Amino acid sequence: MSDRPSDKIDALPPLRDVIKSYGLDAKKSLGQNFLFDLNLTGRIARAAMPLDGTVIEIGPGPGGLTRALLMAGAEKVIAIEKDRRAIEALGSLVIAAEGRLEIIEGDALEVDIKTLGEAGKRRQIVANLPYNIATGLLLNWLDDLDHLDAMTLMFQREVGQRITAEVGGAAYGRLAVMAQWLCQVRSVFDIPPQAFVPPPKVTSSVVQLIPREQPLANADKTCLEDVTRALFGQRRKMLRSSIKTLKIEGLLDGLALSGDERPERLHIEDFCAIAEALRQSRLSNCK
Ligand code: SAM
Repeated sequence: MSDRPSDKIDALPPLRDVIKSYGLDAKKSLGQNFLFDLNLTGRIARAAMPLDGTVIEIGPGPGGLTRALLMAGAEKVIAIEKDRRAIEALGSLVIAAEGRLEIIEGDALEVDIKTLGEAGKRRQIVANLPYNIATGLLLNWLDDLDHLDAMTLMFQREVGQRITAEVGGAAYGRLAVMAQWLCQVRSVFDIPPQAFVPPPKVTSSVVQLIPREQPLANADKTCLEDVTRALFGQRRKMLRSSIKTLKIEGLLDGLALSGDERPERLHIEDFCAIAEALRQSRLSNCK
């Protein structure tokens, strides 16, 4: 008998059989598009290396990516899953993982990820996200970056493009500004629809976000959110016109901006400068 821990995981029934045995037919309402291809799940796990400390996985489903993370040597995987059927289906993987896998039944939107794993150890999120809540989850985690070392996440490609978009591009908007202000982002690779069961309508992208030691520029998060909402809410308008939504006179005074710019031409540092001016005016209006 071999004592390699991954042998027990390797010996588990194929995922298709697990799905059949537990009646885990994919539910659209839960964004269930399962990934069986070991090459692809292995690539995601390798992109997330090092896998020491805690890997938080959202939506393990039948456990394809979970298996890959464990096989790649993850020290501890804590997986949050909403679907009771999947939790039952994961029972044999929990046993095979010999203490390295913990499953939490619940809604990932409500779980406080900073309470998971051991404080002081590496903590990262790796997931093939349910697409209907993917952006909401990411925005929540942007508030918890002090407690995260990395996120390696699969999105619909269009959302991935909105996260990694560069200034001037059509996909450049609020999500790019907020994510890149706080994280270094990179697109890792795309996965075609036919790799999933059932296939979704769109291509998917794995995106990696690594929290920056310091945000790209000084700004208050609420003010930056308000500024990006106001300006990208009227993408076609020039800055001097869209800024009026914030209802504060003279916000651009003293900034190196003419007012003729459209939001997709503004760099993250520009949005931060406007957010800082907004913060100052709000402060002085309170006095
Ligand atoms: N990780 C699996 C894979 O790659 O094959 C399944 C990924 S599937 C795209 C999304 C998973 O998230 C499903 O297992 C689904 O049940 C789960 N899920 C959906 N909404 C959830 C929520 N609010 N909280 C936790 N898990 C959720």
